Amino acid sequence: MAENKIPYKIYLDENEIPKQWYNVRADMKNKPAPLLNPQTHKPLKAEELYPIFCKELVAQELNDTDAYIDIPEEIQDFYKMYRPSPLIRAYFLEKALDTPAKIYYKFEGNNTSGSHKLNSAIAQAYYAKKQGLKGVTTETGAGQWGTALAMACSYFGLDCKVYMVKVSYEQKPFRREVMRTYGASVTPSPSTTTEVGRKILEAHPGTSGSLGCAISEAVEVATKTEGYRYVLGSVLNQVLLHQSVIGLESKAALDKYGVKPDIIIGCAGGGSNLGGLISPFMGEKLRGEADYRIIAVEPASCPSFTRGKFAYDYCDTGMVCPLAKMYTLGSGFIPSANHAGGLRYHGMSSTLSQLYHDGLMEATSVEQTAVFEAAEKFARVEGILPAPESSHAIRVAVDEALKCKETGEEKTILFGLTGTGYFDMVAYQKFNDGEMSDYIPTDEELQKGFDGLPKVD
Ligand SMILES: *Cc1c(COP(=O)(O)O)cnc(C)c1O
Repeated sequence: MAENKIPYKIYLDENEIPKQWYNVRADMKNKPAPLLNPQTHKPLKAEELYPIFCKELVAQELNDTDAYIDIPEEIQDFYKMYRPSPLIRAYFLEKALDTPAKIYYKFEGNNTSGSHKLNSAIAQAYYAKKQGLKGVTTETGAGQWGTALAMACSYFGLDCKVYMVKVSYEQKPFRREVMRTYGASVTPSPSTTTEVGRKILEAHPGTSGSLGCAISEAVEVATKTEGYRYVLGSVLNQVLLHQSVIGLESKAALDKYGVKPDIIIGCAGGGSNLGGLISPFMGEKLRGEADYRIIAVEPASCPSFTRGKFAYDYCDTGMVCPLAKMYTLGSGFIPSANHAGGLRYHGMSSTLSQLYHDGLMEATSVEQTAVFEAAEKFARVEGILPAPESSHAIRVAVDEALKCKETGEEKTILFGLTGTGYFDMVAYQKFNDGEMSDYIPTDEELQKGFDGLPKVD
């Protein structure tokens, strides 16, 4: 490795942590469609969102004109605990693949929550505290968001109520204990503690739950409890904004060595890590300053981009949240219990949806066993045991690198390694035992989800 100019890890200094978030919507000619009131189907005014979300976060949600938004000092201080995160040149993976491609990954698993989610959790907790709230409610799928939020809330002394998708609650008891260690309360969803949870249980007895159900429960509790608001760990514009630190740091690190990626790859659940990773690159693309190939990777079992419809839909199963225009499988779609909990959401960020619709990025879907094959290869050569979600990006990065091997092209690939997989050992166990299956929904199954789309004209 000594002959290579570029170090294995490109670290930035603490003072190079971004001081402003970048808001890609400011540079989009076609802005994401506005959120609609679920009853009237009219564009939502800020005031209508105040019962659900913190005021400052509503302002960020609706802001599609300011390209840069200051990161408050308290949040910058917290970022210093675990940022800047390393940008790693995957020399060992390149060697193992025998590829001329140059592979880089931005590793966001370097904190106790084990994922990039902390970047937005700390921001959302900060604004809730600033508004004088007592606490926040949320949902969590795989548990990373709940963990991140529990950490952020304990830092600012806020109460944190987490509705955890039942399948994950059962598969990942230790995630639950990390959340409780940070002072959060954790309820498996759907639960009998909310009206909407009881309704969902009646309609789908024995369901393993979904993010859409858990969101409905968390929103109900937030709107019915004095001094509480709801916070969400993905999908929303504000979350993509906070996650822009990932892309800004990646770009700063690459710029130090004059490296320009040809291909940028990220896994996509609700789109926050991908949106954050690509934001400054997409900004250049939108302004006509540079071009990049950008690929979203989703599970074949929950293919919002690749098989979904670009339409207004409910963000939650209980249909209490605003309507967002996005690529969606329908809010009633409950994906099979695959092992990438963080990628089991029926919809996709409306910002990324618009960019995808406008042909500014691509999407592909991959099957679970192929994902774990890539995860295993990566773990063995790069040392990091990746989260199943992140491994979707690894799969496609490896495939692109192998294409380079065939063609002899020396492409530069950047991908987001969103987290570690220590709490996903049941999934790894299934894979190691040869018991992992691939599930791809049929067109008929997807049609059921599409049939439930609201009629919006
Ligand atoms: C939540 C999560 C994801 C997917 O969420 P996005 O909002 O699409 O980024 C990916 N990887 C990890 C490790 C996660 O925790």
